[in-house]
Amino acid sequence: MTLSLHHLQAQIELKAETMTDPLTALMNRRGLTSLYGERAFGSFMSVAMFDLDHFKKTNDVFGHPVGDQVLCRFAAVINKYARTGVDAFRLGGEEFALVMSRMTEERAHDLASKISVAFGTEIVTTPLGPLRSTVSGGIGFGKAGGSSLDDVLAAADAALYAAKRAGRNRVIGQNKASRADQVGPALRSA
Ligand code: GH3
Ligand code: MG
Ligand code: MG
Repeated sequence: MTLSLHHLQAQIELKAETMTDPLTALMNRRGLTSLYGERAFGSFMSVAMFDLDHFKKTNDVFGHPVGDQVLCRFAAVINKYARTGVDAFRLGGEEFALVMSRMTEERAHDLASKISVAFGTEIVTTPLGPLRSTVSGGIGFGKAGGSSLDDVLAAADAALYAAKRAGRNRVIGQNKASRADQVGPALRSA
């Protein structure tokens, strides 16, 4: 069977559409799986997961359309840092991911922190007045033998949970959470 060029083009466009989030125009979770699902995440690859803080309250107080605007604002911020080897995705709801390649853990942490800080300075104008929001992030790191996307995402998710527990509006790297928990009481008792 032969397909016309026109038909082929239409199929490619449809495929791209299924991998794009219509609200923010970022790639969606399907895009993430399609690009990175089969990849081995080595030492210099990491994934930062971001989740907007108290976003339910934003919707409740300011309304869903303003919530959508906040989502688009975060997408714009994260997109500013995307480049070759750094890809941004909206995983769903108020959750986003940034895949970082060819970067040390320290540089990945710096980049994710920059995004969190930059978003915290953004102001969305609303009928109820100016709105500032924050975001928490967790980073999962690849390892020398190669980790799966699912493994790195799970590590990022655990670190994100630690960032929420530690008070939100911060980025925590994989396995750093428990150390921070240990430092607190030790310092206090000193
Ligand atoms: P936390 O700081 O712990 O992350 O709390 P949270 O309120 O951000 O988390 P929660 O999961 O309770 O709320 C997420 C909210 O995101 C609930 C849901 O209605 C809202 N949401 C999901 N998708 C969209 C969307 O596309 N647009 C808007 N406006 N809201 C959305
Ligand atoms: Mg969430
Ligand atoms: Mg949230």
